[in-house]
Amino acid sequence: MNSVLEPVNTKTINLLDFDRKGLAAFFVGLGEKPFRATQLLKWIYQEGVEDFELMTNLSKSLRTYLSENCYIATPEIVLEKIATDGTRKWVVQTHCGNRIETVFIPEEGRGTLCVSSQIGCALACTFCSTAQQGFNRNLSTSEIIGQLIVAQKRLGAEKRITNVVMMGMGEPLLNFNNAVAAMNLMMDDFTFGLSKRRVTVSTSGVVPAMYRLTQECDVSLAVSLHAVTDELRDELVPINKKYPLKELMEACRDNAKIAPRRTVTFEYVMLDGINDSLQDARGLIKLLKTVPSKVNLIPFNPFPSSSYRCSNSETINRFKTLLTDAGIITTVRKTRGEDIDAACGQLVGQVQDKSRRHLKLHAVGSERAGAA
Ligand code: SAH
Repeated sequence: MNSVLEPVNTKTINLLDFDRKGLAAFFVGLGEKPFRATQLLKWIYQEGVEDFELMTNLSKSLRTYLSENCYIATPEIVLEKIATDGTRKWVVQTHCGNRIETVFIPEEGRGTLCVSSQIGCALACTFCSTAQQGFNRNLSTSEIIGQLIVAQKRLGAEKRITNVVMMGMGEPLLNFNNAVAAMNLMMDDFTFGLSKRRVTVSTSGVVPAMYRLTQECDVSLAVSLHAVTDELRDELVPINKKYPLKELMEACRDNAKIAPRRTVTFEYVMLDGINDSLQDARGLIKLLKTVPSKVNLIPFNPFPSSSYRCSNSETINRFKTLLTDAGIITTVRKTRGEDIDAACGQLVGQVQDKSRRHLKLHAVGSERAGAA
């Protein structure tokens, strides 16, 4: 018999995994009133208190229960890089040893946090370096909201996170429940209190989840479009084979319907000679005719194993002018944090790949190198 008693961690519930509704249900399950949820959120998010014994408006017995069964834990920043333009990238380690990336983009009058939703990505968009990492697992709610908590702590009181874009590593709508719970928390008056216009979820086009989002969580929607024909989109954003453009646009129209003056933002990465012709611009104008939309053109950010090139600035400007002349509000995304690999599509983290995709890609790469 082993006589050495190992300390056992009996605390199994991370309270950051609940949004207010989830927390209220948790308390009701304990025979408590649902308003305990608000009290707890205030302690954690507003007062920064993590010791349950200090939560004096909770009964002694509830404090004891929480101390014995629950904990509050965020992932941990293990590396910080600051770009010349002030953009900050944090490498954030989860309890299982994987690493994801979170980026803060300061601008005049606002600060945007770009948040990851998965460890790696299960999709295989050909122009995105996160895709090359393969996929490990979904992030939990606490790991998503935890990115805001650790980032805001690190930034201090002067630099506030005013906007969140779910545009880091992963496909948020393939991690629907956790992403939505985390976004609910971001918008909760007792936590970060961000307005729904300042929280944006970006999707590659997971159509059924888009309908669900429209019903269940009122945030701004961005769609990674990148091509205006199914033929090209099948290649660039392979999930298009499952949910082709016609279905995608229908889901966008459904989202735009929920409020007057609501628009869907379409992201369109500018790839030289691939999707940046006059014909592409005309196709885009036609495609967006029936959806209240804005377009965000993203200059392609290269990464080591990619063979794409970014369209030149003349082409990007011409593309923009055509769209603008057709009445579509169009912006060109400023590339930020390029010198620290923090720009769109450059986030890689450190992913223990379970999909074995990085091995397959590596094999293809070596075959190509061998053939050359
Ligand atoms: N999976 C979601 C969330 C990622 S958002 C989605 O696809 O929308 C990241 C945005 O950056 C997406 O619009 C993505 O298509 C774009 N992107 C990916 N790789 C890029 C690259 N190398 N250069 C520029 N933009 C890129």
